Amino acid sequence: MIRENLDMVTGNIKSACQKAGREPGDVTLIAVSKTKPVSAIREAYEHGIREFGENKVQELVEKQEALPKDIRWHMIGHLQRNKVKYIVDKAALIHSVDSVRLAEEISREAVKKQITVSILIEVNIAGEDTKFGAAPEETEALVREIAQLPGIHIEGLMTIAPYVDDAEENRQYFSRLKQLSVDIKRKNIDNVSMNVLSMGMTGDYMVAVEEGASYVRVGTGIFGERQYPV
Ligand SMILES: *Cc1c(COP(=O)(O)O)cnc(C)c1O
Repeated sequence: MIRENLDMVTGNIKSACQKAGREPGDVTLIAVSKTKPVSAIREAYEHGIREFGENKVQELVEKQEALPKDIRWHMIGHLQRNKVKYIVDKAALIHSVDSVRLAEEISREAVKKQITVSILIEVNIAGEDTKFGAAPEETEALVREIAQLPGIHIEGLMTIAPYVDDAEENRQYFSRLKQLSVDIKRKNIDNVSMNVLSMGMTGDYMVAVEEGASYVRVGTGIFGERQYPV
């Protein structure tokens, strides 16, 4: 099932790229494996996937230890400051930085470990009360402040769009995030590249690709529904 799903998702990404006149190589699929067993990840790995996303620090660390070392692990969930020290040298990219305080903690650990940590700034593009992320109008100021911290490199922006039945409803948000990244990139802020846009999930990744996503984060569409303990 995972193989068939992967073929479908990668095929859909390709079609969305064609529709938008983009190169399929410009979009990277992150298989979101949270709550899923190592065996499922291995199956996706054997089908060529090397980028996986997790939203809990401990789960990411445990899975990383159990799986091949050429996997790039993406931290996509809300990150607590007291967990930063366990993850800075494990995650290829931290997608969910939305405050100076969190960035300062990442910076401190990065300097301590003598590494540079790649991050994205999470933007609450639809202004939902339930979501983490910087307000769009505060994002540039946040980027400027975080960019000054040692041991951190800002690669771009990430958003979690609203949960909707019709993916088209999220097109406006993806297009707004793209525009925001273009506007910030134009400012040529030191230590900020703004080439990465992490947006789009199972329900709306094709629209996200059409609007310029460089990473899509797909869980259910690859691994099936998640079961959470009650
Ligand atoms: C769980 C999760 C996803 C994947 O969601 P699906 O709808 O299962 O594709 C993507 N991004 C983030 C931040 C998530 O927490």
